[in-house]
Amino acid sequence: MPEQKVDSYARRLDRPVQQAVHDNSAAGTEKRYGSLAKDFTDADSLRRLAGAIRQHSIENLDTYLEQAEASLTRNGAHVHYAVTADDACRAVSDILKKAGAKKIVKSKSMISEEIHLNDHLATQGIESVETDLGEYIIQIDGDHPSHIVKPIIHKNRRDIARSFEREGLGDYNDDPQTITRRARDFMRGKYLGADAGITGANFVVADTGRLVLVTNEGNSRFCLAAPRIHIALVGIEKVIPSDSELTVLLNLLGRSATGQQLTVYTEFINGPARKDRPSGPEEMHVIFVDNQRSEILASNCREILRCIRCGACLNVCPIYRQATGHAYRSVYPGPIGAVLSPLLAGKNFKQLADLPKASSLCGACNEVCPVDIPIPDLLLRLRNKAHEEHLPSPGTPPMAGFGILASSPSIWKIAMKTGGLSSLVPLEKLPLPYLSPWLKTRTLPGWRGGQFRSWMKSRNKK
Ligand code: SF4
Repeated sequence: MPEQKVDSYARRLDRPVQQAVHDNSAAGTEKRYGSLAKDFTDADSLRRLAGAIRQHSIENLDTYLEQAEASLTRNGAHVHYAVTADDACRAVSDILKKAGAKKIVKSKSMISEEIHLNDHLATQGIESVETDLGEYIIQIDGDHPSHIVKPIIHKNRRDIARSFEREGLGDYNDDPQTITRRARDFMRGKYLGADAGITGANFVVADTGRLVLVTNEGNSRFCLAAPRIHIALVGIEKVIPSDSELTVLLNLLGRSATGQQLTVYTEFINGPARKDRPSGPEEMHVIFVDNQRSEILASNCREILRCIRCGACLNVCPIYRQATGHAYRSVYPGPIGAVLSPLLAGKNFKQLADLPKASSLCGACNEVCPVDIPIPDLLLRLRNKAHEEHLPSPGTPPMAGFGILASSPSIWKIAMKTGGLSSLVPLEKLPLPYLSPWLKTRTLPGWRGGQFRSWMKSRNKK
């Protein structure tokens, strides 16, 4: 992950990568609008309803988690709780070791990225293969996802063809169908040889103990069908009260994420195989991961736990489109990442405290969010937290100086009269220690001020 701040990273970015992310994000936003407007006359009411459902779920998490645990156990699953990322990784490897499992297949799951599960499994001598095509390409390239729904939004088919050639998956061929067929042939062998399958879950229904998983490639289905053990890693906030809420949430998730009416594969998992239901894995484990979520729930940014990971706020964000996902130095990029990542960092909040500033506060993220999260408000609350904790603020313009200037008409008048001199000696060349950190990362436009008063005077004379 890069060390630079978001704006510095964006400035150094390759133009083709920036263009690819920009165009793909813009296309995602267009598709979302089309799909929502076509089917709903008042999509905003639906978003507000979804927001209320998720807010109710997280505010009653203690009740619904207990209920979900009881229902899952009744269905035959084993339920575990992990307080930290390390606890979650250990819980997975302990289950695998106990079962003698050495090879696993994995479907896409943000929480496994969050806890760096693959790195942990590698240290335990366990082979973990990502089966979502995008995630697989990220894995073989040793890269990081750049979008929460489209992890390889920053790559093109020629990049992928080169990676496949390097990995021995055939000669160079950048035809998308050939790439997909080769990946499919490779994955089939991995599914059949795997001891365990690891998935996330988009929702866990408290009253039925049902896990709901959506994918577009059907890979999670294979992860469950062939191996004898299924482990689901789930953030504690994913619990919802009952199946009826799914009608609202699934309708919005597919449309917001990919502009589809419904994601291609929507799976309802009701537990491991039983006598009366012989298909499915022999053993099923659900690991509820906290990893700072309880602290977030107790904070003034708890609304962020409503998130259903659709990625719509990334697609619409002017900063994400320019900077791309890697600029956010964390698993979650874009507006959701600018809020969630510093909060998940917990005691290390300081390391990501600049992210809430990577926003123009235009409000587009809130307008598209299917669960109506007030992201701009949360960004401001986090900026305030950074201010209260006296954290360095590299992106902050020198507002105190501007405050003096703007509140004194006579000083303002002098500044406007003399501002033109800045075109003779640019500000960044002057010895201004207070301004220099801010000026170092900016190119100021040419001076155009000071004309309004004279224009007003001449107008009044007419
Ligand atoms: S914050 Fe809202 S728009 Fe962004 S990923 Fe989460 S649910 Fe989607």
